[in-house]
Amino acid sequence: MKEIEAGGEDHVLIQVAEVYDLALSVLTAAGLSQTQARPVARVIADCERDECRSHGLLRLPGCVSTAQHSKFVRDAEPVLENVTPAVVRVDARNGYSLAAFEQGLPVLEQKAKALGVAVLAINNCFHFSALWPEIEAICTRNLVGLAMTPSHSWVAPAGATRPIFGTNPLAFGWPRTGRQPYVFDFATSVMARSDIAMAKLKGTSIPEGCGVDIDGNPSTDPARVLEGAMWSFGGHKGAAIATMIELLAGPLIGDLTSSESMAYDGGERAAPFHGELVIALDPKLLGNGQDELNQARAEQLFAGFTDQSARLPSERRYAARARSDTQGVHVPKSLYNRILAIAETGVDPRDKL
Ligand code: NDP
Repeated sequence: MKEIEAGGEDHVLIQVAEVYDLALSVLTAAGLSQTQARPVARVIADCERDECRSHGLLRLPGCVSTAQHSKFVRDAEPVLENVTPAVVRVDARNGYSLAAFEQGLPVLEQKAKALGVAVLAINNCFHFSALWPEIEAICTRNLVGLAMTPSHSWVAPAGATRPIFGTNPLAFGWPRTGRQPYVFDFATSVMARSDIAMAKLKGTSIPEGCGVDIDGNPSTDPARVLEGAMWSFGGHKGAAIATMIELLAGPLIGDLTSSESMAYDGGERAAPFHGELVIALDPKLLGNGQDELNQARAEQLFAGFTDQSARLPSERRYAARARSDTQGVHVPKSLYNRILAIAETGVDPRDKL
């Protein structure tokens, strides 16, 4: 470990493997079984490596406190059900979604490659994660992937001020021959809630148009927007996509909406509890027998970005990954010390403030 100063803040420089080990030891000390702890530690390390800091070590204290929720099952073993030739369901049994995804992925792959399309429905999960790691895992198996979840009801539709749906992430991935896949993954709110929370921590304001305060007045104060309501991106269009996600990853698969997730939480302020919908498509079976031509068409589309020096989603992550794999990752020293304190005492020093 090396200490450095960057951006006016002290940081420690650690290797990606150390991030994983640190996260795993903290989660295990919090009582999580290996089935539950390992995939969460993996996502935290992957997000730190790809400089997706909102789902990196910063979220580890939240993962620990979610695991203390009265309804969380720390040693949950997901249960898989083959519903139809095209549908696999995994009941997370009140553990994290990631353990359920890990179990469902091989069956999703096998079904999609047999039928051209397959659906993985995850139920009864506490949800901490960026969705891109799951989508990348699907693309690595030469499948196209789509994933979505509700969250807690923090977001109001365009023209309204009362939150009724979540920050509802949506992610999509396309496998590319000889290259890392094209992946996008975003919250359907203007800003991800974790980014607003980070602005609050740093004492900075957020851009106009992200949300309203508790009285329904537009605000750039992150604390006030966190108390009030966030807005979905793109006005009524983003609100419609968020609504679709509520329906597809909620009632369609027999699981909770974001409002129901919030009620289920009962004020304990844990991660959302609901379902997740994952769809895999096989380009070989759907491509009308012209796999190579179809790949070339897709590449032409991507070249339309790079030819103009426009940013292709996921390229920033891959560049960060290459850097982190050789140089390690910079973690703010205050966060690092906070996590070490949780690992040693089981108590978040922030809780004492
Ligand atoms: P961002 O707005 O940071 O990024 C969204 C996507 O757009 C990424 O794929 C990113 O690629 C790409 N992108 C960003 N900026 C540009 C640009 N200027 N030009 C082209 N592409 C761009 O994501 P969000 O803040 O909305 O979401 C962050 C994460 O939070 C996601 O991983 C999401 O899954 C997660 N989340 C999870 C929730 C949950 O309940 N589990 C709820 C809400 C969000 P790149 O990755 O290369 O930067």
